[in-house]
Amino acid sequence: MIASMSREIKIYDTTLRDGTQGEGVAFSMEDKVRIAQRLDALGVHYIEGGWPGSNPKDLRFFKRVQDAVFKTARITAFGATRRPGVRPQEDANLKALVEAGPPVVTIFGKSWDFHVTSAISTTLEENLAMIGDSVAYLLKHFEEVIYDAEHFFDGFKRNPDYALRTLLAAEAAGAHCLVLCDTNGGSLPHEIGGIIREVKRVVKPGTPLGIHAHNDVECGVANSLVAVGEGVNHVQGTINGYGERCGNANLVSIIPNVMVKMGLACIPRPNLRELRDVSRFVSELANRKPWQSQPYVGDSAFAHKGGIHVSAVLKHPETYEHMDPELVGNHRRVLVSELAGQSNILWKGREYGIDLDKTTGRTSTSTATASSSRRTTGTRSRWRRRPFASRSSPSPSTRPPPGTVPSTRWITRSGRRSRNSIPTSRRCRFSTTRCASSTSPRGPAPRHAC
Ligand SMILES: [Zn+2]
Repeated sequence: MIASMSREIKIYDTTLRDGTQGEGVAFSMEDKVRIAQRLDALGVHYIEGGWPGSNPKDLRFFKRVQDAVFKTARITAFGATRRPGVRPQEDANLKALVEAGPPVVTIFGKSWDFHVTSAISTTLEENLAMIGDSVAYLLKHFEEVIYDAEHFFDGFKRNPDYALRTLLAAEAAGAHCLVLCDTNGGSLPHEIGGIIREVKRVVKPGTPLGIHAHNDVECGVANSLVAVGEGVNHVQGTINGYGERCGNANLVSIIPNVMVKMGLACIPRPNLRELRDVSRFVSELANRKPWQSQPYVGDSAFAHKGGIHVSAVLKHPETYEHMDPELVGNHRRVLVSELAGQSNILWKGREYGIDLDKTTGRTSTSTATASSSRRTTGTRSRWRRRPFASRSSPSPSTRPPPGTVPSTRWITRSGRRSRNSIPTSRRCRFSTTRCASSTSPRGPAPRHAC
């Protein structure tokens, strides 16, 4: 662990812009507002609401949130530098950004000479002017201008001098942060680290740098963390890693990695427990099935199947868990299969209020209490504050798996399902911690928005 709480990593969420470029991801304007409010409650620092110059919905979003109160996050509009041969004040894209009116704007410019000559078909010098002119123009209209250096790492690999000149053009014009983008998502961690060190030798000392990584070679999170290790304090990404092609760097992994593993300040510490709910909230609105094995927040992230594992976890959770699942709002699960051992069965029984005798396997009582559970298993958990759930106050650590919500009589002595059990169809599949309908068998049909 890097023990340095003095550094704060700013989280820049682009779920509402880059995330919507992922296949199958679409948000209505009202969905975008709700997600923005949820992200603000989580404590991210920037929320990129969209590209007002690209579609009317995004422009409406910025109008809609103008009167909304955001406690932590700064709403950001996204766009491109001016077009070649056009003055900034006459560029339709830049005018749309100004019309959108948020306090922060992010524009991307070309870093890769190949893109300059082949994609936007202009000269290398004109591209530098486009970057400088656009940043300078936007500074007159926004409190903060962030510059995204598109394809920076690919550009640097082909023509490092030119890629660096594009950064210096944005820096000279006054950009508040220079964000290095792995737009094609094909760079590896060691390349990211080496190139950032080269950048730091060229820009002014103290110039804020950022990272925007895509996940095409499964290194989006790793590349972002390498950048943080190199001193980058601004990290862009999306909730659940939604984004174009294979997605963006996943903030749901980056945030706990930065805070728990690297010991750096980021979002407010208590809010870390909201991470699983935020992940589910966004997947629900995106109409995307939650990722079962998603690190930190997935249902399987702290699920134990092998008998040896469960036996050890009962004694010391850290034997097979890298951290306390409750830190990110998740919970431990124990699975029963042909791989299970005695410990799995004992745990599972206790989870459903059945106290099994360790020696005989017989049911000694169907109303096991938390205290008797502790006594029977001898668990000495460093992480689990409530080793087994009492029925009146279920612990996240012992919450049953999706699809099986026990009531006090979930499984009778005869093994039949109780009539008081809650049908799966009535459960809120979005949240396991907040939705009242997920705990009331007679309540209204659950809604996803808890
Ligand atoms: Zn991107």
